[in-house]
Amino acid sequence: MGVLTLDFGFDRASHVRSDGSALEALFARGSTRVLQVYDGRFCWKSKANSTNLFFLGIDALNVAYFADHSEHLKLDATSTLRENNWSDLDRAIATHAVALTNWHVAHPHCPLCGAKTEPSLAGAARRCVEDGSEHHPRSDPAVICLVIDRDERLLLGRQQVWPPKRFSAFAGFVEPGESLEACVQREVLEECNVEVESLQYLGSQPWPFPASLMVAFQATAKNPSQARADGTEIEEIRWFTKAELNQAHLREEVLLPPRISIARRMIEHWYGSELHR
Ligand SMILES: [Zn+2]
Repeated sequence: MGVLTLDFGFDRASHVRSDGSALEALFARGSTRVLQVYDGRFCWKSKANSTNLFFLGIDALNVAYFADHSEHLKLDATSTLRENNWSDLDRAIATHAVALTNWHVAHPHCPLCGAKTEPSLAGAARRCVEDGSEHHPRSDPAVICLVIDRDERLLLGRQQVWPPKRFSAFAGFVEPGESLEACVQREVLEECNVEVESLQYLGSQPWPFPASLMVAFQATAKNPSQARADGTEIEEIRWFTKAELNQAHLREEVLLPPRISIARRMIEHWYGSELHR
């Protein structure tokens, strides 16, 4: 297990997906929770009137979870994954539900014959109504890398599209046929001209915007003095000692990534504790 991977003991119970009576029994339990999801927004709801149900799994306290993906129901008091007032477990369940429903919305047709598809396996897949082929959701792997030098300084970069003063780790999507390690080396070299070695896996985080799986590494710069921003994706880079980053954060000269992101936890892992203001 990566040191930064969150583990809730959540059981996706995939053997239940094809067992209609087991699903009904789980749904009938008093403790069962239903998350209503539409267009990336969601709220917990009562089980009554649930129609389009996807089974998500069972938590460590034996509570079963379903997502209700109904387009025509009115959503009250909805939340998004970017909000901070959720427990880690509820956020993980909502991430699962949002990623799954995003995929269903985006895949109404069979990629083989173009006919309609409909949900199967309690929402874990879709099946073509013409040829019966089954299609499964995918995640797009992306790497995110914390670059440090031999003096334990940290290199962060700023993307032009981010809010002012935001700095974070370097990241990018894995290309076809590319290993995670090769992707880290390529992305870091492209974005800040640094060659990295001694890659260390830190953990992973699903990030359903739209369907990414962020895989986090730390790596050591071989040529730290040659670091420079690529000037297109990354407009500025900065090296920080731990004291410098803490000061910049306290004085609001630097905005760190949000607490819910693995990028923030990577930076705090390097720092040695949470960074508060
Ligand atoms: Zn088909």
